[in-house]
Amino acid sequence: LKSPCRAFHEHPGLRASDLYSQYESVRRGAQEMPKYFNFASDVLDKWSEIEKAGKRPSNPAFWWVNGKGGEVKWSFEELGFLSRKAANVLTKVCGLQKGDRVIVILPRVPEWWLVNVACMRAGIVLIPGISQLTAKDILYRLQASKATCIITNDTLAPAVDSVASECQFLKTKLIVSKGSREGWLNFTELFKNQSADHSCVKTRIQDPVCIFFTSGTTGFPKMVEHSQSSLGFRPLLSERYWLDLTASDIIWSTADTGWIVTSLASLFDPWVFGSCIFVHHLPQIESATILNTLSRHPVGTLVGAPTLFRMLVQNDLSSYKFMNLKHCVSGGEPLNPEVMEQWKSKTGLDIHEIYGQTEMGIICSVFKGMKIKPGSMGKAAPFYDVQIVDKNANILPPGQEGEIAVRSKPIRPLGFFSKYVDNPKKTAASERGDFFVTGDKGTMDEDGYFWFIGRDDDIIISSGYRIGPFEVESALIEHPAVAETAVVSSPDPLRGEVVKAFVVLSSTFSCGDLKSLAHELQEHVKKTTAPYKYPRKMEFVQQLPKTVTGKIKRNELRDKEWGRM
Ligand code: ATP
Ligand code: MG
Repeated sequence: LKSPCRAFHEHPGLRASDLYSQYESVRRGAQEMPKYFNFASDVLDKWSEIEKAGKRPSNPAFWWVNGKGGEVKWSFEELGFLSRKAANVLTKVCGLQKGDRVIVILPRVPEWWLVNVACMRAGIVLIPGISQLTAKDILYRLQASKATCIITNDTLAPAVDSVASECQFLKTKLIVSKGSREGWLNFTELFKNQSADHSCVKTRIQDPVCIFFTSGTTGFPKMVEHSQSSLGFRPLLSERYWLDLTASDIIWSTADTGWIVTSLASLFDPWVFGSCIFVHHLPQIESATILNTLSRHPVGTLVGAPTLFRMLVQNDLSSYKFMNLKHCVSGGEPLNPEVMEQWKSKTGLDIHEIYGQTEMGIICSVFKGMKIKPGSMGKAAPFYDVQIVDKNANILPPGQEGEIAVRSKPIRPLGFFSKYVDNPKKTAASERGDFFVTGDKGTMDEDGYFWFIGRDDDIIISSGYRIGPFEVESALIEHPAVAETAVVSSPDPLRGEVVKAFVVLSSTFSCGDLKSLAHELQEHVKKTTAPYKYPRKMEFVQQLPKTVTGKIKRNELRDKEWGRM
């Protein structure tokens, strides 16, 4: 915490603001963390003042488009005004109080951002959910979280109604809709008539702000609680920053609103820097929509999952000229070097990889300007002492494979979750010695770059060799026929288990003889990476099973192989 962040140095608006100078002594370690902090009053309302004083570029704070001509632009002041009205809907009409929990399942609509800020103003804990959730998923989330209110739209309201009788904690259903629905309060109507008179509640810096469900890649999603400190205060102290934004930047993250990535990359982190958050409604994630949007809007930073970039590079990009795109970020899953290379050759842009978890936020990152080693997730992010450890929490030397871990004692890093809700056992199990262990295997090289090998249980052990699926997948994807692939273990009488690849063929590739293609792909892997890793079994599929956040569910494929489902 030595030097102030880059944005502070470079942007006169920031330097003039007391937003940063206020925390500089905390940054230098000369002063304790503040006891009370609320992102709405301590950051957003401050930006509103800076804006009023004419010290912020004329960017909107929030810019939403729906691709059909619909557009919403808010300044920080407008965001303040509207979110106070929304806070009154939640408190005065719905009777929600500080500490209450509300599940919010909305697509990428402006109301999602309004409700987020409104909850902060009222001290209500927001639990975002992904729009693809089914009735069963919603039931699990309502029961597990004991939420007293749910906010959703017409699409998901019937699913909520079908399970509501089993949710004894649920008191209020609030719909964002032009029409009415029986048993539901209408947010859109109520909002119109509310006053904007609302005073932000006082919250302690450790008070909860959000509870996120993990992606559920390896089992039931876990409830991860984050605080004012881990979400809103952390970026204020960051000296080197994964998004590297200033108040004149425009950032677009394409993630679903239910994923922590949206809260980080499309809410807390950009707004700390006074940046403009760009949102496209994106009912479907289609290449043409993304590419046209980048060509028509001055988005400077794009954040997406590897699947997004894998999809984009399948297109002929020569007909698009991006207006202002300068910085691309990908995370949530490993990014294949081949995809990076193709994106670079087609657009001239690098993809900066980030690595993180719902529990810890962004732990590693390829920062802007740093040397890129394709296939690596970059170096430890500010506040995190990331190490590779063994089963006894001993730190392993560079090059040696072990578990990726973050030192959590004696000081819990800023950015860490508070706990797994109602699960002290799980919270305790995630700790090993002085470290929090991620459940991911990796290595660190001499330069401090981290390399992902695979999730603990994704590692394939064949004839005594340890094989990480990612390396095999990356080799396969280098072949023009392969659009996407997942590699898992499969039973084998002789070797115990062997490598099996599920392959989705590229739409531009036509092939009649799949048997010879399979052989060609095997030979290709043998040439690209150590031959013992080549997939002895191969299956061509139309699509891969994915979590609602778009991650490949290798465990599902593996269970099928082993006859476990
Ligand atoms: P669950 O914990 O419920 O099984 P999940 O771990 O997928 O689900 P998230 O918190 O969304 O839930 O994802 C974190 C995990 O995603 C990491 O532990 C890691 O396995 C993977 N991950 C994230 N970023 C990267 C990356 N850049 N490279 C490789 N893997 C990544
Ligand atoms: Mg996890």
